[in-house]
Amino acid sequence: MPPSALPGLVLRLRPLGESDLMLDVFTEPMGRLTAVAKGGKRSKQRFFGVLLETHLLEMNLEPTKSPDLWRLASAKVMASHVGLRQDYRRLLAAGPVLELLLRATPVQSPQSGALELALAVLARLETGDTPAELGAGLAVFLVRLLDRLGYGLNLDACLHCGRPLEQMKSARLSLGGGLVCPSCPPGHRDHQAPPGLVKFLAAARDLEPQALSRLRLPAGQAPLALGFLADFWREVVGHDLPSLGLALRSLRVSGSPSGR
Ligand SMILES: [Zn+2]
Repeated sequence: MPPSALPGLVLRLRPLGESDLMLDVFTEPMGRLTAVAKGGKRSKQRFFGVLLETHLLEMNLEPTKSPDLWRLASAKVMASHVGLRQDYRRLLAAGPVLELLLRATPVQSPQSGALELALAVLARLETGDTPAELGAGLAVFLVRLLDRLGYGLNLDACLHCGRPLEQMKSARLSLGGGLVCPSCPPGHRDHQAPPGLVKFLAAARDLEPQALSRLRLPAGQAPLALGFLADFWREVVGHDLPSLGLALRSLRVSGSPSGR
């Protein structure tokens, strides 16, 4: 039985029949779960203005006949992340946060720290004003969630021969999940890994959560970072991630030199 007043981030809403809504939400103690909101589609009902993607809700859930489906008995908004809706670039940058929690986390399985991470990143994105800032916020999420889900990048030594980073003149990032040294054979899908980018990725993986909101990418490296992370995430989940493609295009198009 879920705790009462359970905080949950709304990932997706789908209509169900004439008047109901299905919600996918992400919670700390239960991970991702699905609930039905009776009458959620009608306006002027108790859920009016409450059920919206990116809203953090305080929810009271009741069981249904199915163990995988809950009934949303009541909900109120704890954080609306309204800043995301004031600038389409922010909304596009936040898209992958919702999509990855929806598609890459298992149903009803707690993922320690993932909700806290998502909320910290959404708070950063909803005030972000430059492509560099939005790109850094999204990149932090992409690196850290990989780590949380057990796909953490190996950034300390060559994936193939074990040569430590300090002994590499240069490095590449491999879709195998980390660094490859110049002596090992290149893969055709390797990405560039300038030293500043490797440092950023390691910091995003290792820093205390409170310090992540100040972590910046070296100037001009947001496209490199996001390009690699998007390719690696597609590898991990095994299919395309439409919201990630949209976010990248939005940040790249407007991410020219003036972006920093
Ligand atoms: Zn090597």
